[in-house]
Amino acid sequence: MTVEVDGIRFAWKPGQRDVVDIECFRVSAGERVFIEGPSGSGKSTLFSLLGGVVSPREGTVRVLQTNLSRMPAHRRDLFRADHIGFVFQMFNLVPYLSMLDNVTLPCRFSLLRRKRVRSRAESPEAEARRLLDRLGLDQHELHGRPVTDLSIGQQQRVAIARALIGAPELIMADEPTSSLDEGTRERFLEVLTAQCDEMGASLLFASHDMRLSSMFDRRVSLIELNRAAPGQPKEPT
Ligand code: ADP
Ligand code: MG
Repeated sequence: MTVEVDGIRFAWKPGQRDVVDIECFRVSAGERVFIEGPSGSGKSTLFSLLGGVVSPREGTVRVLQTNLSRMPAHRRDLFRADHIGFVFQMFNLVPYLSMLDNVTLPCRFSLLRRKRVRSRAESPEAEARRLLDRLGLDQHELHGRPVTDLSIGQQQRVAIARALIGAPELIMADEPTSSLDEGTRERFLEVLTAQCDEMGASLLFASHDMRLSSMFDRRVSLIELNRAAPGQPKEPT
């Protein structure tokens, strides 16, 4: 099992209302799950909990049989660097680094991902080139350019390559398509899902755009899953 969530409650500040209250949520190895819910339903907060960025005040979050809820923050940071690839809404590329250096960045923070890269390529740079080629960025003259010179379509591919390098077991993409037009959006999803399959990674994809859900094994409504989401259907009285 890649993700096992049991009885978690989370509030951003002590004493404030819970924004996440989830009884049970599972993601198996290699599974692709589409997480759907309106703005404010807790998608990003759930990802922060699964990534060990924050800890629940109650309950447990296990990723790859590791209980993150009882881990100190610095160990959670290491665990995240080793096992989780994030693709953010605005891609969050480092503006002063080249395309190639953005992609190899996770290998600087994770010995495990560096080792895994070495099993399939000569160096992180060579693996970054291979991934960028696979993602359709085979114009090598671009690889040394700062990412600020790139189009949105190129930046999204860099963000995918950075999430995938060193084969983390869990990829989380948080509304990565909201700034893209329709054609680009579908192409983005094809590329992302194909690469996750090739690497054997589980994929969690958050969006409020249901049209994208057909490429997934399963669809989860956060309004139904998260008892703290606003607009949660009330129990009949
Ligand atoms: P979604 O990603 O589905 O739009 P979020 O997880 O961002 O939902 O938000 C859920 C709730 O948590 C909202 O009420 C939001 O205002 C609040 N929230 C999100 N991030 C933070 C934060 N860093 N600090 C305080 N409150 C936050
Ligand atoms: Mg969000």
